Amino acid sequence: MIEYWLQNGDAYLLENNLKPEDISLEFQIRDPPEQIRDILEPLLQNNGKATIFFNSYFKQLTRKTRFKESKTKTCSICGNKGADKIKGWIFPFIIDKNKFPNLYPHGKIESLNLCRNCAVRSFAAYHNVYFTAQRDYISFVIFYSDTPKDLNEFLKTYAPKRVSREYYYNWRAPDVVFFPHEYLATVLNEISEKIKIEAELFEKRTGALIFGVSVRGNKKIFEFAEVLSNLSEFINIFLVFKNKYPRNPFYQLFRGLRKDGEVKPDLFIWRNLFFKKLFKYRDIDWNIVENILFYNIRERNQTPPFLHPFLLSVMEVLRMGDKELYEKASTLGYRLGMETLRKELGKKIEEASKDEIDRARKKLVQRIYELKRKRTLEEFLDSLNTLQLSAESEIDDRPFRENEKIFYKLKVFFLIGISNAAFSKMKEKGGDRNES
Ligand SMILES: [Zn+2]
Repeated sequence: MIEYWLQNGDAYLLENNLKPEDISLEFQIRDPPEQIRDILEPLLQNNGKATIFFNSYFKQLTRKTRFKESKTKTCSICGNKGADKIKGWIFPFIIDKNKFPNLYPHGKIESLNLCRNCAVRSFAAYHNVYFTAQRDYISFVIFYSDTPKDLNEFLKTYAPKRVSREYYYNWRAPDVVFFPHEYLATVLNEISEKIKIEAELFEKRTGALIFGVSVRGNKKIFEFAEVLSNLSEFINIFLVFKNKYPRNPFYQLFRGLRKDGEVKPDLFIWRNLFFKKLFKYRDIDWNIVENILFYNIRERNQTPPFLHPFLLSVMEVLRMGDKELYEKASTLGYRLGMETLRKELGKKIEEASKDEIDRARKKLVQRIYELKRKRTLEEFLDSLNTLQLSAESEIDDRPFRENEKIFYKLKVFFLIGISNAAFSKMKEKGGDRNES
């Protein structure tokens, strides 16, 4: 992890034609010398005042804060003689083996030591941080690539510009965010905005370091630190997703994945877990999807906007084996849902009034809840059968019988489809109707 962090420092030095010797490591933060201010500028507000990030890393530094090389210590990074024990403001995380013994790079060493040059490289890396915060919780992201040069290329060409910087963020997500994975999702979406779909799919080798930190007074508690590789796959998911629509549907998708209410972590947990599973395991968390689906049905009288096409884009780009079954089961659900609605209305949906549709939809939603409660395949198929009889419709239930082992997933697939039918009339034109 520290190598990727240092690469960001190297990228900054390279971009600005600086050598480590050009930068002072003895400073008082209230009046930082120009070069230090340059490094830290993205962590300051537009008006030059401190941000929460800046405060939590540098506020306690004083005129006496300095870096002192000791001849007896060896740099843990480059092996040069003459180093100092690494400090939190030089390298922002895991500086003490007691905290993360299993993550520590050199098993026998109790603390990381850095020579002056490596300390400057590490310090300079702060320049490239993207952060956002809620109260005392900071999420931040930094990128890495194959080389510092590649990283600069990536940052210049694709990374979002940190133009509006305020106390709680230096790059603002399109919706309130709390946790690092959901924050990264918004940054990746923004990156995908800069790529033309006509061009080849994005193939740069870029990864991200993402962090979640609680700040209590002068104490910072790392709740989360992770390296994510090969972001291009995820950027391509956003590209494929957005390509289906004239206007970027990301914000509506993103907003629909969280709960409403006064801002607290609880509102954002599902959305973060959804993106965490996606970014970390390249997989979809169907339990979370089900929770999000029924939250939207219950609290918002809708299905989560654009979730269905987003899931399809994920499965397409990551070449998930489930995609075909997903399409089959959700289409079955959609068809049965539409037929149930029609039967209930006794006429074409287009000819029904809003009240009639509302009533029919309510009934269908009850049936959807019944299906949701079925715990075994047999119970579920029984229930499905009843629904088919009342809709005077017949669907092919082989996808369920032939894949009993993944019944819990297939059930979610089906529930998404049938819910999309239940709410299809509610959507504005251009919405994500499941009409395949
Ligand atoms: Zn060194």
